[in-house]
Amino acid sequence: MPENVVIGAGPAGCATAIALARAGREVLLLERSPEPRESVCGEFLGPDAAAALRRLGLDPARLGAAPLRRMRIGHGRREADVTLPFPAWALPRRLLDGALQEAAGPALRRGTTVLGAVPMGEGWRLRTPSGEIQARRVILATGKHALRGHPREGAPPPAIGLKLHLAGVAMTDAVALLPFGGGYAGLQPLPGGGANLCAALHGPPGDLLARVRAGSALAEALLRDAYPLWDRPLAIAGVPYGFRQPASGPSGLYRVGDQAAVIPSFTGEGVALALHSGLAAAKAILAGQEAAAFHAAWRRRSAGPMRWAGLAAHVLRASPPAFAALGAVGPLARLVAARTRVAA
Ligand SMILES: Cc1cc2nc3c(=O)[nH]c(=O)nc-3n(C[C@H](O)[C@H](O)[C@H](O)COP(=O)(O)OP(=O)(O)OC[C@H]3O[C@@H](n4cnc5c(N)ncnc54)[C@H](O)[C@@H]3O)c2cc1C
Repeated sequence: MPENVVIGAGPAGCATAIALARAGREVLLLERSPEPRESVCGEFLGPDAAAALRRLGLDPARLGAAPLRRMRIGHGRREADVTLPFPAWALPRRLLDGALQEAAGPALRRGTTVLGAVPMGEGWRLRTPSGEIQARRVILATGKHALRGHPREGAPPPAIGLKLHLAGVAMTDAVALLPFGGGYAGLQPLPGGGANLCAALHGPPGDLLARVRAGSALAEALLRDAYPLWDRPLAIAGVPYGFRQPASGPSGLYRVGDQAAVIPSFTGEGVALALHSGLAAAKAILAGQEAAAFHAAWRRRSAGPMRWAGLAAHVLRASPPAFAALGAVGPLARLVAARTRVAA
């Protein structure tokens, strides 16, 4: 039986698997999708994500990411335009996940959906459509998707995430934050031209483009000639923003990435948290740390970023003009950026 089985080859699962394999540990990485694909994500990568990628031997620029230098925030007829206080990139998830999965090498088994995991003696028994797999340890990296029998305890009311790639949008080096009635969207350039529109909202989505356009003059201007490159947006329900895994859990089952903490999307720190939690889980496993102790340590480490991101999300929802005014104040933007950093 493999010593470690990682379920889910997103950023968190790949980081864990790569770090364990490089330390000479036996690891199997199971991914349900037969090939890398787009997933609901704003595709914004900040310095923490870049630092973790470099530790894994990857570089955003070499993967074809577009550099971002400014953030624009629309609110009614007004707009704030801020220089980002750190380096940042736009990188489609298909490219990011593809590069991470390639780096995982022979540990990766694509096209394998794990249907359930139950404790068995000293380890775990996993059920897949093609039979059972036994493992000493399980690393749960299924992102927003709960594995049957392992729901996230005390998760807050879920939001909906939507993503749509667009043509007809002239974006260069800026990410735009576009609050609208009932939610907020991020718009940023795609490396080859066009833009990625990604939104988080509560309630029925309706016509995404029309709703975002109606939110501000900036959105109306940026999206005036936009048209979707896909038939319909990618959608994900059940995004429990603010969830944090309690400092507990059954022996031998380590939660990483969105299974351990779900940070408000607009901070652009979700992938960074996922990568760093994967690296931290691998370190904990190599040090012989039990799952509950790892969860307690990760809970402490992610507490500050989660608190500041939650506060900023609250201001954005309650008063977009106040958020934009605060965002336009350079030192404050730098403070919030510093407080939501997760790199050790
Ligand atoms: C609207 C929105 C916008 C966002 N914008 C940004 C942003 O701009 N920047 C940023 O850094 N973060 C952003 N995020 C957050 C980011 O997308 C997540 O935090 C990140 O993808 C979490 O990584 P993960 O590895 O935990 O999970 P995921 O990336 O979701 O990967 C999980 C993997 O597990 C696989 N899987 C699931 N179930 C099974 C199963 N049963 N068996 C086998 N495989 C399985 C899936 O196919 C997938 O490949 C955004 C999120 C939302 C909802």
